[in-house]
Amino acid sequence: AAVPHAVAAASAPPHLVLICFPGQGHVNPMLRLAKRVAAKGLLVTFSSLASVGARLAAAAGVSAGGDGVPVGRGRVRFEFLEDGDPGPDLDDLMRHLDTAGPPAFAALLRRQAEEGRPVACVVANPFMPWASDVAAGEGILTAVLWVQSCTVFSLYYHHVHGLVEFPPEDDPEARFRLPGLPEMSAADVPSFLLPFKLLADAIITQFRTIGRASWVLVNSFAELEGDVVAALPGVTPRPPELIPVGPLIELQQQAGQEEEDAVRGDLIKAADDCVEWLDAQPPRSVVYASVGSVVLLSPGEVAEMAHGLVSTGRPFLWVVRLDTQPHLPAGFVESVSGRGAVVAWSPQERVLAHPSTACFLTHCGWNSTLETVAAGVPVVAFPQWGDQCTDARFLVEELGMGVRLRGARREAVREAVEAAVAGPRAGEMLASARRWSAAARAAVAPGGSSDAHVQAFVDEVARRARG
Ligand code: UDP
Repeated sequence: AAVPHAVAAASAPPHLVLICFPGQGHVNPMLRLAKRVAAKGLLVTFSSLASVGARLAAAAGVSAGGDGVPVGRGRVRFEFLEDGDPGPDLDDLMRHLDTAGPPAFAALLRRQAEEGRPVACVVANPFMPWASDVAAGEGILTAVLWVQSCTVFSLYYHHVHGLVEFPPEDDPEARFRLPGLPEMSAADVPSFLLPFKLLADAIITQFRTIGRASWVLVNSFAELEGDVVAALPGVTPRPPELIPVGPLIELQQQAGQEEEDAVRGDLIKAADDCVEWLDAQPPRSVVYASVGSVVLLSPGEVAEMAHGLVSTGRPFLWVVRLDTQPHLPAGFVESVSGRGAVVAWSPQERVLAHPSTACFLTHCGWNSTLETVAAGVPVVAFPQWGDQCTDARFLVEELGMGVRLRGARREAVREAVEAAVAGPRAGEMLASARRWSAAARAAVAPGGSSDAHVQAFVDEVARRARG
């Protein structure tokens, strides 16, 4: 007979299971949330597809099963779905998630109860709306972790409920307003019908179920996006309450400690000599460039970027994924050796926290955006699609932390880097970046706004688990 989930031994810590979409931009904030919550005394199981488990094992040394690792007053353990292999194609993956995900996740939840770890709450990634349904079917409380900005949440919410009409893309002058947000144009709206239709469908679908969760935790912080969060309750139909628990950055980085974290979420092994290389560069000299885990630059863009970075005359650390490295100009890596370093994957937060780093040429994924805010590093914003466009505008226009790069022409790259590092407004941008960094760190420090939200969530889960 099934073991009921609600009943845990009185002495056992409440058990939270996280279920994460298989992408680096989802794994990082979800795992960092796992650590925040565990640090406050919960037992946390991080789960995702078996393929994510295999990559975490290879790149970050994570091992599944057992008691996991201690984090603060609690523990984080890993367990992955027995879901078969969907292969690399994104459309196949999305279909696979919908069919293989629910039964595999239900089995995982039942196994927890059978093995003496009944589940008090599931935190699902909203890209997998079925996960909340499965948990609810097992009688388990659910929360959702929103991994994009509150601004993007509001834009999607208004769109899905037909509450806004965005201006047409061919009218760049047209503006629209939403509660708690500055005026925007079509270019600031996340591109919906990305190259990936099924992903766009998933973005829309998540809003049908998100309101059923008992908590909607968001990777942001009250001081950063308080206006939009405060305006949402005035919208009809009323959106769920957003609870900012971010920025979800590594706590050890936050405390300025150098030691490696016990569990990291890298799906690709990070080059281990980046920090050493940065140590050898002058303070605030290095241009760090990365377009994250999903964006693929064209061969022409890679070549232009290569010439552009060299032409800055500054040291640079450039993340060029293995699938893109063949597009580098012949002999490039050798020719820039010493002054420029090319790596397939970096320990990004350590790079941003390093005193040699002067600016971040970024695609403005939301994690990268928050990480550079937390580190206080000015940006060259180079968004490609999706919410990156909204985040770029936010960084440059709202936070005053950098400049925009439009197109990867070499002259444009050089000019944008110069403007961010040494131009007439560079000092102002650095000062803004440092102010936002202080606010970000304060939010997650003990007693800060996000820390208090995490504590309240943990307390409430514990209260309900104990009945
Ligand atoms: N990242 C990293 N090393 C790299 C590039 C990226 O560790 O060389 C991390 C980065 O710190 C961030 C995540 O990968 O946490 C990328 O997430 P983001 O939302 O910025 O972009 P996405 O990859 O989802 O487009």
